[in-house]
Amino acid sequence: MDPSPLFYQAGPALPEVSHAKGVYLWDDTGKQYLDGCSGAIACNLGHGRDDIRDAMLAQLDRVAFTYRTQFENAPAVALAETLIALTHRQLEKVFFVSSGSEAVESALKLARQYFVARGEPQRQRFVSLRPSYHGSTLGALGVTGYGPLEAPFTDIFTASLKVPGPDFYRHGEANDARHVARVLEETRATIEAAGPETIIAFVLEPVGGASTGARLLDRHYLEGVRALCVEFDCLLIFDEVLTGVGRTGAWFAYQHYGVTPDLLATAKGLGAGYYPVGAVLSRADIVATIMASGGFQHGHTYAGNPLACATGLAVVDAMQREHVLDNVAARGRELKEGLQALKARFPWVGDVRGLGLLWGVELVADADTKAPFPAEQNRFARITSLAREEGLLIYPRRTLNGVAGDHFLVTPPLTIDAADI
Ligand code: PLP
Repeated sequence: MDPSPLFYQAGPALPEVSHAKGVYLWDDTGKQYLDGCSGAIACNLGHGRDDIRDAMLAQLDRVAFTYRTQFENAPAVALAETLIALTHRQLEKVFFVSSGSEAVESALKLARQYFVARGEPQRQRFVSLRPSYHGSTLGALGVTGYGPLEAPFTDIFTASLKVPGPDFYRHGEANDARHVARVLEETRATIEAAGPETIIAFVLEPVGGASTGARLLDRHYLEGVRALCVEFDCLLIFDEVLTGVGRTGAWFAYQHYGVTPDLLATAKGLGAGYYPVGAVLSRADIVATIMASGGFQHGHTYAGNPLACATGLAVVDAMQREHVLDNVAARGRELKEGLQALKARFPWVGDVRGLGLLWGVELVADADTKAPFPAEQNRFARITSLAREEGLLIYPRRTLNGVAGDHFLVTPPLTIDAADI
């Protein structure tokens, strides 16, 4: 019997972590690891920072926890104002949570309550992409397009239409504009068949994360999705849980494309691994509509507590002080070059794609046909364990629904230097 009292995953026993500093971690045998994936794309500023610790300790000394319906707290107000400013006031209201799943879940419920408040209760489902990952709670999983995670729960999900997004590697290279037009046409047909009047919102990651191996969408596609949302009068929700707070080189990934969502969910990098904190940012009139009809019927105990928000503030402050987005741009160029060199060297590196310091490498059995490796070969697990043996942590995934094959993410802390890249 497994001696560990924990049961997170099947598989071999894991080494025990001893300590961490900067982009490195050490296990209890003294082995050193380069954190090439920021844990789970969370530790965006590296480990063991004194400035974040000091800000957290100062807040702990004042007050760690207050409940959102009993007190307003200064760090929460300041962090909300900071996030709003980072969207150039395109989104003007903030609801805090503690994780990415909670952020997506909250955005979905906010969108539903908005339409109920508007007298449109027949809007009962969401449109989302396959593949995609939006979180592990039932609502967020309901809009997730990732076969093995969905399978045990499909009978009890919130209704959701899963549509394909553009896949430039497998289908689009010959004529990208035609590919985008075809994907949008299919999406329109799916929505029209289901009844546009039943749609609450379109949910997507503006730059793909773990489920797609950092697949990029494109400006025309996002403009097309926005146009569909306007036409069908539904909301556009961007899941920036992974991409938000600088990962792609902009504060939020949507800013690369100039297509603004109505609601935005963010988490991971906001607490940078120092404390769980996430947020939903919303158009002010959506919130006003809900407040006028009795308020948002939703919330989590730890939402927006002073310690969480002081941590988020310290993270954003450090990023601004140290011009971290400039580092993301420079290191991103170097990482791209290095990963593309792998493509020239190894025929099984099929595609290298990404933005900023979010890079995906897709592995293929045959570079010409782009055929994936047989699932039972577990290439993604093998390459991850080989990297681990060499002291490098990367983030592995297999998409098992026939849309893409094995891939891994390289997503180091945004503060990494050129030597470590
Ligand atoms: N949305 C996206 C795009 C994610 O990448 C993740 C986590 O990987 C989530 C939502 C869920 O976030 P959490 O694991 O913090 O609940």
